Amino acid sequence: MKNKNVLKFMESCPSSDDFLPDAMKIPFRTIQPRFFSGLFDDPLMLIPIRPLGRSLLVDCGQIHHLAKRVVKSLDAIFITHAHMDHFMGIDTVIRMVHVSPKTLELFGPEGLAGKLEHKLKGYNWNLAEDHWCSFRVREVHPEKIRTYFLSGPEGFSCRFEHEKPRQDRTIYRNRYLRMEAEICDHRIPVLIFRITENSTFLIDEEKVAGMNLVRGPWLKRLKKMFYAEELAEKPIAVPVRKEEGEEERTFPDAGVLYDRIRKERTPGSLGYVTDVGFSEENAKKLISLMHGVTVLACECAYLKEGLEKARSSFHLCTDDLNFLSRRIRPRYLLPMHLSKNYLSCSERLFEELNPPSGVTILRPEDYATPRPLLPCELPDFGDMLP
Ligand SMILES: [Zn+2]
Repeated sequence: MKNKNVLKFMESCPSSDDFLPDAMKIPFRTIQPRFFSGLFDDPLMLIPIRPLGRSLLVDCGQIHHLAKRVVKSLDAIFITHAHMDHFMGIDTVIRMVHVSPKTLELFGPEGLAGKLEHKLKGYNWNLAEDHWCSFRVREVHPEKIRTYFLSGPEGFSCRFEHEKPRQDRTIYRNRYLRMEAEICDHRIPVLIFRITENSTFLIDEEKVAGMNLVRGPWLKRLKKMFYAEELAEKPIAVPVRKEEGEEERTFPDAGVLYDRIRKERTPGSLGYVTDVGFSEENAKKLISLMHGVTVLACECAYLKEGLEKARSSFHLCTDDLNFLSRRIRPRYLLPMHLSKNYLSCSERLFEELNPPSGVTILRPEDYATPRPLLPCELPDFGDMLP
């Protein structure tokens, strides 16, 4: 019931689909990303995973407008880097979850555990109780992942847990997706992320008919084996249609059988890039990780005229994004994190973006959330008199 409420709330929030005409809905099966920062607010991407009723969060900028029940649905937070506009919302997260009995995972570049520890040390925790939440921080280094634990019941003291070598780019996975990361240069290490949905069990009816297989309970068995990752080299008995009736045939490898009857479908994926300098090395990493991604949410802090500022602050400008989109070829491109210098003229960003054919630009509002209040919009004490 609780999960249903969270899902209902999420349904009512703007998603990247809302920027598109009805005919072009984005083909995600299990994730439903919500971009909460518009063009100008500090970045924040919520990624609800529908079958779980749980969410992931990428970056932690302007988060205070997220409902507490949504923040409490977070399983993990992925921080690109600890510049203030990407990390300051972590205080709001801490406020909303600290008395919940769970462990929240944080992923980020080297040094993140120390930064979280310092934030937590800025408060008094003398009332900490045994059921309070804890944080596990996984710092992503080029060759390894270092893990730290900050225990709520112990007043959020930070202790080193372990260090493991990185096998590949994957830093997190669950039953429905995997998260990959690469380290880029922003004069400090900054992580870029790609979330890819896991393949789902899909059968091509024409292929089944073409092999004369008779539908039956074996398909359910095959599906169960698929999700349990037990297909390889496991035999499976299947009824096969013959001229004189049906005959049961045992296929020695259910994985091979599934490959012959599966429906081809590219899993949905979402790239998130912000605050990377436009260097050859960054561009190489970015293109390699993001190639062919379904939706690329990418920082574009400056227009063409701001090229020098982009270079000196290690950010991207419109020309850089045009270059990258020609090489990455996402199906959808969501520009974000535009400098507030362009507050009155954000349409110029979309005039300068020129992606290749086949790439559709998503156009978020300047702000996704209501503006802050002015004192004159609130009652004064006199208005509160009985
Ligand atoms: Zn930054």
